[in-house]
Amino acid sequence: MSKPGQRDSPMMGLVDFHCHLDLYPDLLAAVQECERRQIYTLAVTTTPKAWPRNHQVASHTKHVRAALGLHPQLIAERANEIDLWEEYLPQTRYVGEVGLDAGPRHYRSLDLQTAIFRRILTACAIAGNKVLTVHSVRAASRVLDLIDECLPLDRGRVVLHWFTGSRREAERAVGLGCYFSINAGMLQKESARQVVEMLPGERLLTETDGPFVMSQDRSAEPRDVEAVVNGVAHLRGVRPQSLCLSVLQNLRTLCTEL
Ligand code: MN
Repeated sequence: MSKPGQRDSPMMGLVDFHCHLDLYPDLLAAVQECERRQIYTLAVTTTPKAWPRNHQVASHTKHVRAALGLHPQLIAERANEIDLWEEYLPQTRYVGEVGLDAGPRHYRSLDLQTAIFRRILTACAIAGNKVLTVHSVRAASRVLDLIDECLPLDRGRVVLHWFTGSRREAERAVGLGCYFSINAGMLQKESARQVVEMLPGERLLTETDGPFVMSQDRSAEPRDVEAVVNGVAHLRGVRPQSLCLSVLQNLRTLCTEL
């Protein structure tokens, strides 16, 4: 028997602001699961070729939105898809996954990645009113330089996904108006935990980055964002339900402040 006031049901109003629903075996089933569990989910894509299907499936839902992406790790082979990405841009409010990856496997395409990311940010600034989920592996400073240069605060909003930059870089990102979507991987690393502790509460979002992040011994799914809420709440010394509510409020603010 549960005590009065004890919560047995799953947390309501969860937010998974970065998940690759189209990389699970069944996109439609993954979208329906988010809808059934009422998890506000951003279905990011890695190539604009995936946009039409993701957009079509998400557009009939209350809780799922698709984002138009061109992943930095694919730029070496797919830079020419930027034309298709630009063609689809007017169809979406949400952009991602985009950004830079200066890790060892992708470092050699960093100049090309930078040119493409600059073009993406500029196109978003011209269009206005876009919300971007941005990858910045080993490239936090360069990503922030480009945001500063190409996307003024009144032309768009950036959510830094799985941010692994320093505290100083995080402070700079806050000054540039960025939000941060926190995932389980970040909570395992002491340097990232310190960033999660210091960020302003009104800039926090949550994500799973499924299926790339593992939860126990399987790929994370949007429902696993509840563990992220618990972890972030614990780190920041607040109750999970109150963190969950403020993340949802942050999502509302992000989507209405532009
Ligand atoms: Mn991702």
